[in-house]
Amino acid sequence: MLETQNLSLRYGRHLALNGINISIAEGETVVILGANGAGKSSLLKAIAGLQKPEPGSVLTLDGTTILGTKPHLIPEAGIALVPEGRGVFGDLTVEENLLLGANPRRARTSEAERHGLIYDLFPRLAERRSQLVRTMSGGEQQMVAIGRALMSNPRFLMLDEPSLGLAPIVVTELFGALKRVKQTGVGLLLVEQNVSISLSISDRGYLMEAGRITGENSAEALKTDPAVQQAFLGGAAA
Ligand code: ATP
Repeated sequence: MLETQNLSLRYGRHLALNGINISIAEGETVVILGANGAGKSSLLKAIAGLQKPEPGSVLTLDGTTILGTKPHLIPEAGIALVPEGRGVFGDLTVEENLLLGANPRRARTSEAERHGLIYDLFPRLAERRSQLVRTMSGGEQQMVAIGRALMSNPRFLMLDEPSLGLAPIVVTELFGALKRVKQTGVGLLLVEQNVSISLSISDRGYLMEAGRITGENSAEALKTDPAVQQAFLGGAAA
């Protein structure tokens, strides 16, 4: 179980996260829905150790605190982030990008096995393992980014707007792959503008507004929640 309690984050005077309490169980898929600027990316970055939360914030993995540990220990603990914009290395091949993700100690013992698993999840990457990533389509690059994060053998994988800028057919393919990742037992924490497709693979979701969690429910209930419908599914703010 990955859990935050009273997690707050400040950029100068701006309180971007204000007392966030969320949890993700082993193997669960959870989506965070919120308008631009609600703080969704900041939340993922704080959990990944890329931003330093305010004193009093708590982040635990199976009840053990992991906040304040060195950032490189977060992947070692089994938490991986696919950042917005992917962060892949364009001048390296698919294979080389994947190898970079195999750095945490927890990944090394099973490197060959991980490669096999990732190429099973993303057959397209197997076909193109020697291709330079910058010559690939946006959807393929997103798959490389997810594959690289999976090389660290994470227990929890966080994804920041994986569908951003992708054509609808590619988004469908990508979420098909994420469904297969989910079936491997990895917990997924997802931030997505594409509310409809993200709810379709999620077990649960949180609503976020101006740095606070304002709602929480099962994905099924959120799909028909009038507030979600109005804000995200055909409403003006989508
Ligand atoms: P989006 O969907 O637009 O990325 P978001 O919900 O992910 O939005 P964040 O990117 O977390 O929101 O931003 C939350 C707030 O914090 C915004 O007001 C943003 O301008 C501010 N912010 C984010 N990163 C920084 C930073 N590095 N320095 C200062 N302010 C920041």
